[in-house]
Amino acid sequence: MDKVIDGKKIAEGIEEKVKQEVRGIEERYGITPGLATILVGEDPPSKLYIKLKHWACQRTGIKSENYKFPEETSEGEILELLDELQSRNDIHGILVQFPLPKHLDEKRIMQHINPKKDVDGFNPLNFGNLLIGNESAGFVPCTPQGIIHALGAYNIAIQGKHAVVVGHSNIVGKPIALMLLNRNATVTVCHVYTHDLKRYTSSADILVVATGVRGLIGADMVKQDAVVFDVGITWVDGHVYGDVRFEEVVPKASLISPVPGGVGPITVAMLLEHTIKATQKSVTH
Ligand code: NAD
Repeated sequence: MDKVIDGKKIAEGIEEKVKQEVRGIEERYGITPGLATILVGEDPPSKLYIKLKHWACQRTGIKSENYKFPEETSEGEILELLDELQSRNDIHGILVQFPLPKHLDEKRIMQHINPKKDVDGFNPLNFGNLLIGNESAGFVPCTPQGIIHALGAYNIAIQGKHAVVVGHSNIVGKPIALMLLNRNATVTVCHVYTHDLKRYTSSADILVVATGVRGLIGADMVKQDAVVFDVGITWVDGHVYGDVRFEEVVPKASLISPVPGGVGPITVAMLLEHTIKATQKSVTH
């Protein structure tokens, strides 16, 4: 079905480009783009996401290293590793897999990542650039960037549209709201304390749902011909489910991202692109 976003296909297209860029950088500068990831704890989905990111690096020729810590690791140990990775010339991008165990302060860790290597766009400097509409100066988070990429790939105009974002996390909700606003959409942000969610979602031309509440959005909450991005991932017995009741909403939507196979693969591809961008910046600045 044309109206179902093929995230895997979009990701493959990006990977092809990344492969060529890796080769170009190696030939021109004699270096290989390098990504380091940090994983704390045993959360099975986080372990899988890290694996998928490293496989994508392998496919495209990006050198990647994963640093795995036990659940009870102290913040000091992570900050120390960040310092070490940040001082290395062969590591151009660093990603800390969120969510972190509760005793770790995600905000402090975000703050500690060198903005030049912050390929997931979480450092406040990068977030600030996003806020003032200067996205290209730094990095924006990969999932929202993937959504904007998909909108472009399917030729969906953003300007003047009513975009409704459900979820206001630092990782997805806030940055996608800002990115849509930067492109002149009229943006409404909803969250767990929003009264009468349907009142907002049913007027959305572009609806982005990122809550982790399985099946939160039904057909009665979606406007006819809306573009719907389902970011949510809920694991049940080894299967993943989105926030949108796909079968119900698909007839109403003009374009919709499935779970799995929608936003997820594009997010990983964006991380590769960001690692290339970080490498290029490291040699040209
Ligand atoms: P989060 O878990 O930090 O926060 C959840 C958000 O949803 C909050 O803003 C909360 O207010 C809102 N919310 C919760 N229940 C709600 C309800 N009943 N009605 C309206 N709003 C509600 O958010 P996150 O880290 O952005 O993750 C959201 C989901 O997206 C999770 O399932 C996560 O696994 C998934 N995710 C997917 C990708 C991807 O690449 N596909 C990337 C990041 C996150």
